[in-house]
Amino acid sequence: MREPAGFRASPPRDFDGSFAWSPRTISSRAAADLSALGFTSWEGAHVYAGPGDRYVINDNNGDLFSFRRTSGNWGGYVQSRPGDSDTVEVALGAVLPTDFLFLGPVSAVDQANGYRLSLTQAPPAYGSDISQGRRAAWYSLAFLMRSAAALFLDVGRQELLAGIHPGPHPDGPVAYAFLADALENGAGFSTHLGSPQVIADYMQAVHAYLDKLRQTEHAAICTSSCPLCLRDYSNMAYHSLLDWRLAGDLLTVLSRGPASSSTDRARQSLNSLKQICNGTLLGGDLPGLALTSRSGPHAVVAKHPLHMCEQGLVSGDLQPALDAALEHTQDASRIIVADWFTLEKSPIQILDQLQALRA
Ligand SMILES: [Zn+2]
Repeated sequence: MREPAGFRASPPRDFDGSFAWSPRTISSRAAADLSALGFTSWEGAHVYAGPGDRYVINDNNGDLFSFRRTSGNWGGYVQSRPGDSDTVEVALGAVLPTDFLFLGPVSAVDQANGYRLSLTQAPPAYGSDISQGRRAAWYSLAFLMRSAAALFLDVGRQELLAGIHPGPHPDGPVAYAFLADALENGAGFSTHLGSPQVIADYMQAVHAYLDKLRQTEHAAICTSSCPLCLRDYSNMAYHSLLDWRLAGDLLTVLSRGPASSSTDRARQSLNSLKQICNGTLLGGDLPGLALTSRSGPHAVVAKHPLHMCEQGLVSGDLQPALDAALEHTQDASRIIVADWFTLEKSPIQILDQLQALRA
């Protein structure tokens, strides 16, 4: 990545009335040495806060930009032309010192409840364990913390940025939800929120904000996220991932409470698949589908995104549906386990796996 020291415009021309506009999809990434930040713990979470560097990167959608050194006497770089040698392929960015708050799990796995809080996982216990909703849970928690922080501090949401950051942990890398001050050099907000004196009050405010979102006037109209809760113009790139209920479940687990069992949502997430593949619910009302094709029986079991179905640990909540699925298939490798978030948002992934089983 190169950070431009300055810019120079082309020779002036008359405005012709057209200009290119694209929505902001540049992502903010955090680079911080967690061990250099202030540490405090809160319930089932580790909290780090203090100054760090924020990277704002435009990598041209992964293609990078191609520049060549200008032949002019001002010493800069200009866009390269086809056939140029000596080109440099770079992402453009800015490194901005600011204040951060990182919140991550005390442990990557909650053994007692069968939840995984990290984004890596062990091989599946059955045919597959599709858990893409976990990433969405961490993004959603970060933006829930941002909305609640704005109210708690009585500042605009645009004063804070949010995202997730893969950080080191004794259990292997885990995800941290982070907040950062939008102002260059920081306004001190994130450091204040993550300080030992404030963190408990702030997290209580996050819970209180969540309680407000659960009230019918919001909950009845917002199935995943809306401008009233987590969405705004600045996080447009993440809108499809944001779900305040999922954020609430992750927050509850980090607060050492049990996540909602969400069996109804799991069952409903199978509706479209049930119609497309002509399946029937396992055991009449379990969150799983019994399917049959020419190649034989198979099954899809829906779970909460935090639930584990891995070699070594299968969440106890899943066992009734898994047992019924095994009775139907008689073969563990013919059982697809997927979280309701993935089933709702991109059922095509599950259909692809079914196609592979049917081949
Ligand atoms: Zn909403």
